[in-house]
Amino acid sequence: MNDSLIEQGFKELYPNKEFHYISALKYSGKFNGFNANVRLSLNKIELHMSKDWQQISEEIQMGLIQSLLTKIFHKKLGKALITNNIDLYNKFIKNVHIAIPKEVESEYILQKFNKLNDQYFDGLLEQTSLKWGQFSKNKLGGYEYGSDTIVLSRYLEHAPEEYLEYVLYHEMLHKKHKFSHNNGRSLHHSRAFKADEAKFPRAEKLEKEIPNYIAKKRIIRGI
Ligand SMILES: [Zn+2]
Repeated sequence: MNDSLIEQGFKELYPNKEFHYISALKYSGKFNGFNANVRLSLNKIELHMSKDWQQISEEIQMGLIQSLLTKIFHKKLGKALITNNIDLYNKFIKNVHIAIPKEVESEYILQKFNKLNDQYFDGLLEQTSLKWGQFSKNKLGGYEYGSDTIVLSRYLEHAPEEYLEYVLYHEMLHKKHKFSHNNGRSLHHSRAFKADEAKFPRAEKLEKEIPNYIAKKRIIRGI
């Protein structure tokens, strides 16, 4: 794999647009599983993928590259063409969790995961890796498909348990519902997702309560 793949991927997505970017593709050891990211600054595209990607077929790698390119260009360049590579990549990333070893950083999150699993998923949701993220106010939780990991903001560690449970439940629903891919865009919060989310008691109130609570928090370390 080399830098020119970014250009090749771009031209398949946007055959009528010109590619006038410097591009760099690197495999990085700082990612878990099959995570990756992309950054566009001025005329430079930097794409980083985890080292594990090196063992994956070039077709699927190209699908990843193209998915990331549509993320940074969809506002600027509009609809991209849908490529077979992107389809392959989406299939891969939805199934990769099967092969990924799980890590649990926090027994507390695991205990909550199991409780919610029993309550809302008949205990059938396969366990993900679970870890604390940064003290983030913008991002209270996330589910990374590429590493099958749920990450929760550190602010939730000492928050009311109901708040952590609600955010965790949302991320578990991402694992259950995955995403659909249409017209070059991924839909993560489908109608079925939202219907499931609304089953959580006081869901509507919590949508407001939790951000209000987090907004007032300061970073407290070592408690
Ligand atoms: Zn979400």
